[in-house]
Amino acid sequence: MSLVEIRNRVASALAAAGRAPGSVTLLAVSKLQPDAKVLQALQAGQHSFGENYVQETAAKWPAFREQFPEAQVHMIGPLQTNKAKQAVDLFDAIHTLDRASLAEKLAKLAQARGQSPALFVQVNTGEEPQKAGILPAGLETFLKDCRGMDLKPQGLMCIPPDGVDPRPHFQMLADMAARHGLTGLSMGMSSDFEVAIAMGATHVRVGSAIFGARPQA
Ligand SMILES: *Cc1c(COP(=O)(O)O)cnc(C)c1O
Repeated sequence: MSLVEIRNRVASALAAAGRAPGSVTLLAVSKLQPDAKVLQALQAGQHSFGENYVQETAAKWPAFREQFPEAQVHMIGPLQTNKAKQAVDLFDAIHTLDRASLAEKLAKLAQARGQSPALFVQVNTGEEPQKAGILPAGLETFLKDCRGMDLKPQGLMCIPPDGVDPRPHFQMLADMAARHGLTGLSMGMSSDFEVAIAMGATHVRVGSAIFGARPQA
């Protein structure tokens, strides 16, 4: 496992960008990885994790959390509305608020529980038809609707298209966040987290570079 190496690279990227140490959260993306590797990361002091599937998280995290109460688990995969209730019990943050029906559901749950996980709005910066997320042109209205429901997203998240320079997408996301007064920027994965840090990421989502290739689902 190369957790130490990735932490060092995160620290170097922060320093190179003139940013404060610790100003980015490294999410170790543990989806589909064997429990032994996750345990190893927890034992090495890694506290923040990313997961993609509600079912898998329900099966694996309650026991880990008992052993490591400081652990934080962030939802970074698509969230079905009918799993939202389970998700708010399982996750400290949801990075994939990507549609009005989900916002409505999360708002109801927040009202009933008196609290909500931290929320990031996923933006489809590449305007890819097959990809989830709010289109850039619709973001302002979506955020207004969220606030109208008493839902307060703290940041934006994007997954740039495959095989293109991610920079314009990261820049667009950073500009949109600044324009709307949002402080969180969830961007950057194994192949481009250093670029994302240079462009202001507050959360990078790194899986295979830490844990190795994922077994197939
Ligand atoms: C799986 C996943 C990651 C991690 O991908 P790696 O390339 O393994 O770092 C990051 N973000 C999202 C949204 C993912 O689904």
